[in-house]
This record gives sequence, structure tokens and C-alpha cells, in this order.
Amino acid sequence: MKVLKFGGTSVGSAARIQHVAGLVKENGAQIYVLSAMSGTTNSLVEIAGYLYNKNIDGVRDTVSTLAGKYKRTIDELYSTEEYKSKAFTYVNEIFEYISSFSKQLFTQAEEKVILAQGEIISTHLMTWYLQECGVNACLLDALEFMRLDLQGEPDQDYIAAHIKKTLAACKGADAYITQGFICRNSQDGIDNLQRGGSDYSASRIGAAIGAEEIQIWTDIDGMHDNDPRIVKDTRPVRHLSFDEAAELAYFGAKILHPTCILPAKYANIPVRLLNTMEPKAPGTLIDNKTERGAIKAVAAKDNITAIKIKSSRMLLAHGFLRKVFEIFESYKTSIDMICTSEVGVSVSIDDTRHLGEIVHDLKRYGTVTVDLDMCIVCVVGDMDWENLGFETKAMSAMKDIPVRMVSYGGSNYNISFLVKEEDKGAALKALSDCLFSER
Ligand code: ADP
Ligand code: ASP
Ligand code: MG
Repeated sequence: MKVLKFGGTSVGSAARIQHVAGLVKENGAQIYVLSAMSGTTNSLVEIAGYLYNKNIDGVRDTVSTLAGKYKRTIDELYSTEEYKSKAFTYVNEIFEYISSFSKQLFTQAEEKVILAQGEIISTHLMTWYLQECGVNACLLDALEFMRLDLQGEPDQDYIAAHIKKTLAACKGADAYITQGFICRNSQDGIDNLQRGGSDYSASRIGAAIGAEEIQIWTDIDGMHDNDPRIVKDTRPVRHLSFDEAAELAYFGAKILHPTCILPAKYANIPVRLLNTMEPKAPGTLIDNKTERGAIKAVAAKDNITAIKIKSSRMLLAHGFLRKVFEIFESYKTSIDMICTSEVGVSVSIDDTRHLGEIVHDLKRYGTVTVDLDMCIVCVVGDMDWENLGFETKAMSAMKDIPVRMVSYGGSNYNISFLVKEEDKGAALKALSDCLFSER
């Protein structure tokens, strides 16, 4: 059995739902994990904000806009009165339920109940649409099997045991539809796997059932700077190892949510990224195999700040780095790149909320310099240090671009350069031309 996840944009309108239903019919009896229709979770977050503030007008207006959107979707989606009225009644009840929270104490627990409604609605709409088309689709309630443990992490044993039961109750269906993102916590309350968490649901479900493959279907609707597929101009990345995908995920390369890599990697289940708009294209396969000697992609991450601490006290001293890192830790700021010399250390961060305090505290240990508006450009592939030539090639590609930091050897899969944001395009192009030209 396979697990296929469709993101919010893929189910974002009546036409998109109908399109995905076509893919469901073609793929048959698999598990289909759906996100909320795009924009819905954001609207629900907004409604929760009004509920916290007891802004009743805000709640009413936002609920009515969202309800209007669903009414139009339902009208367009179904062709029979029977299904239209079933869906209208259901969605109305949900919006009444959401509005009813304005009369009671509103805490995080209630907020999570509200956030769960997007996926609950999208999966009902899809299941009913398939049924209207004569497909025996069965809706699996994710709240019966997706569960967090006391640490707030998905409880894989519980998930595996309970999804089997839920599936068995629907035996023989043509398609199994379920919600991404939503779950129960260890106290049995409704909870979620954080924003964008539907990919994570798919990966946990895939691992729980020992799926043949986990497919992440997304709408690729245009050019994205950070998309590894476009950086290489015309050639899409057909294959990545999980480790390479993890390196790229940090770069916001929109390949898949970073959390969903590990469960699939450990369960050794291949993940395939597919484009809903081009369903016949082979997509990108991610598995445990590393292609020896191959460079896969070049990606970039903007809004990086470099901080240099120079101190002659560092010379022959020990414990200097610990002191420096502790400052970042105390402000919950993670460090991305690090370069050290005997008299100084440079780090890069992408979260500058506490930059002022960090710089202030670092000044205790040396002279501090800050470079704003930087960007990390990274090459991902098999960079085992015993492979010859890649570093030289990558370095020579950057010959006309001022490079602030270089990081190589941290993992076997990447070499990163810190450059000015204004040089990003030139750096990406130079690296792509140089590393992919002869392929
Ligand atoms: P949502 O976040 O609404 O649930 P998706 O997760 O499917 O929907 O995708 C979010 C957005 O990211 C969409 O606008 C989609 O076009 C874009 N996107 C997703 N994956 C890629 C990719 N590999 N390359 C380029 N863009 C992508
Ligand atoms: N609907 C949720 C969100 O918007 C989960 C997801 O789309 O993956 O964050
Ligand atoms: Mg998403």
C-alpha cells in the first residue's frame, strides 16, 4: 500500500479537488492524506486570535468569509442535491461550532480544536465527492490513530497499532482518505503536528503501515528561487538520498517538510515528490541510496546574518567556543554555519530577533563584527572527503564572487558558501554552470 499526501494548494478549490479525485481513481486503494484547503488554516489561526481577544465582530466576519468560500466550493464541487445539502449542513455545523467558542473560556486547547477543522472539512468534502462519483471511499479518522506521546512527539507504536484497526474497519474500500496535521495528545485532547505538518503525518503513517512508498503531491505553480529543480535550469533532480534531502530541506527548498525525512529514512520507505499539475512526470525519488560522486543540487537561503568574534584571548585557550555558543543558546538562537581560526570565530544565524543582546554579550569575549543581508549558497550531493575535485570545482566557480565564509566537511553531503544576498543569483548560476555543465 502507498501513502499519497496532497497539500492545501492541491485541494484548494472545487476544480482542484476534482482533479485530485481523478488521481485517487487512478491510484486505487491507497491511503490519501489531505491538508486543509489552502488559506483555511491561516483563517482559523486568525479566528482563534479573535477568540482569545473576545473580538466577537472579528470572529463573525472571518467565519462568514470562510463559510462563504466553502459554500461556493460545495456548490461547484457536487452535481447532485443530495451531496450538496449533506456537505452544506456539515460545514454549517462546523462553523456554528467554531463560533460557539466565543461564549466560553478560550485557551490553547480550544485553539487546537479550531485549527483541526480545516483538515476535517477537506477530507469530508473529498470522501463525499468520490462517493458521488461512485468510488467506495472510506474516511479514516486521524484522531483515532495519530497520537503524541508525553514528549509531544508522535507515538509510533500507538499509531501503528491503531491505524491497522481503523483500516480493518474499512476493509475492501476503493480509497482511504485521512487528515494530515491533526492528532490527539497524550491527554487525549485534539492537537496538531505544527504548521505544514501534513507531510509529517504522511511520513508517520507510511512508516506505521510499512508502506511501499510515500508520495508527497504538491502544486508546483511557478518558479521558486530555492527550488532545486529550477536552480539547475532545465534538469529536474530525479533522485536524492534522505541525507541530501535533509540538507536541502533547511534551505526551504520546498522539497518536503524537514520533519518527515527521518521516519521514512529509518523505516526505509522511499519518498516520491510529485507535481499535481503534471501527474505523469516522474518527480523526485528520495531514498537511502547515495549516488556515488554525484552533485545533486544547488540551493540558497536568504536573510542570513554573519557574526565574527575576534579575540587574542582565544589563542591557545580552551573553552572559548563553549562560552560563545552558550550566548546563542541562552537566546534560543541556532547557529547554521561556523568557521573558526586560532584567533576568531565566525557564525551565521537566520533568526535575528535577539541580535542586539547577542552582540552585546559577545563583546565580553572579543571584538564583534556583524554582516547583514547575507545568504548561504549550498551545493548538495555526494561530497565524501575522499572524492577528489569537487571542492576545487566549487571554489573555482566562485572566483568572481566575494565569499565571507566556507563550510565543508561538516557532513558528507554539502559545501556551503556565505555570500552577499546581492550576489546570490550570480553564485547560483556560477555553481550550476560549473558543476552541471558536463552532465
Ligand atoms: P500547502 O502548504 O498549501 O498545504 P503544499 O504543501 O502542497 O500546499 O505547497 C505549498 C506551496 O509550496 C505551494 O504554493 C507550492 O506551489 C509550493 N511548492 C511545494 N513544493 C514545491 C516544490 N518542490 N517546488 C516549488 N514549489 C513548491
Ligand atoms: N493545514 C496545515 C497548515 O496549513 C497543515 C499542512 O498544510 O500541512 O499548516
Ligand atoms: Mg503544506
